[in-house]
Amino acid sequence: MFRTFLRLLPLLALTTPALAEGGFYGDPPDATHPWAIHDMNRPQPPRVEPGENGAPPSDAIILFSGKPEDIQKWKSDKPNGEPTKWEVVDGVLQCVPGSGYIRTVEEFGDCQLHVEWSAPSKVEGNSQGRGNSGVFLMGQVEVQVLDNHNNPTYADGFASSIYGINPPAANPLRAPGQWQSYDIIFRRPIFKDGQQIDPGYITVFVNGVLTQDHTPLEGGGGHKGRSKPRAFPEKGPLKIQDHGNPVRFRNIWYRPLPKRAIEGGEYSKMSEEATAKKRAEIAKSIREDAAKLSGNAQALRLLESLCYEANADAEKASLTTLNAFAAEAKAADAAKQEKQKGEIMNVAKALRYMTHFKLLPAENAAKADLEAVIKARDWEKKK
Ligand code: MG
Repeated sequence: MFRTFLRLLPLLALTTPALAEGGFYGDPPDATHPWAIHDMNRPQPPRVEPGENGAPPSDAIILFSGKPEDIQKWKSDKPNGEPTKWEVVDGVLQCVPGSGYIRTVEEFGDCQLHVEWSAPSKVEGNSQGRGNSGVFLMGQVEVQVLDNHNNPTYADGFASSIYGINPPAANPLRAPGQWQSYDIIFRRPIFKDGQQIDPGYITVFVNGVLTQDHTPLEGGGGHKGRSKPRAFPEKGPLKIQDHGNPVRFRNIWYRPLPKRAIEGGEYSKMSEEATAKKRAEIAKSIREDAAKLSGNAQALRLLESLCYEANADAEKASLTTLNAFAAEAKAADAAKQEKQKGEIMNVAKALRYMTHFKLLPAENAAKADLEAVIKARDWEKKK
């Protein structure tokens, strides 16, 4: 995809009057930002087809869609890993009280998770005893599932609380028997050399309402005891709790999340070391792309590569071509200059950008010649 895009870039540059779609536009890369502002060399976001009417998006990994065979993706959480006794009834996964937690066969870490659940419409019990279940990220952190419709309980055990850590910011639950949706963004804690470098976070939307806003995990929480920061493995199963109530579930899916910057993920701001490495990679890719071009298109592409990484050969090759073009343009008669106006302005603007940001020496022959032509032809009349 990226390569196809790179091949299209020169076409864009040739057909776009001011190279606004190519380089030489926004502020260039710096020590901690590998890309320029509005950088067309930056990869396009991958296409994901959104789900219609509550269906999962195209890249979701389905954990339960309502098909009877989806039960194969789950097993009992008991040590022998036996098949679960939970039942699929009318396309819905239902807790069989007393049968124990279930867990996914698959293990995963940071994710966007979607779960829909419904507490029994026949209201029984109160506080933590009414419609209780729970979604355990990596089998460790419980996002509470509880029928809190007209059912007070301790706040840090409320529906969509991070159990034992943080109450939800709101109670947007529907009545028991109706379907509730949880959309969860989960980031596990990360430790390095025994030190916590990221506490991990959870964000939750309940029925579209934000209830946990990037809540730090503080070790994951739990019942009665205050948890302390601790390392998590990279992956773990998703577990759903049997708390003795026949809570029902449907439409369970997740999408893995990209790596965080501290894990080497690519973000707008990165470490100096990662930025230098990425800039060298982008520059190399642009130089390889330039090698397929010729004339000014090649020279401009090589100039663009210098925004990411200095390279004497690329600079020399580019300026050799542009100096010759500029000298010829300056020597041309007025009619020919007018005919070449678009190209002259393109190259001049690129050279202005490069010198403005000190990516090329302030004085260079190509720039001097082209600025002379622009002035002589009066192409930039003062308003
Ligand atoms: Mg629970």
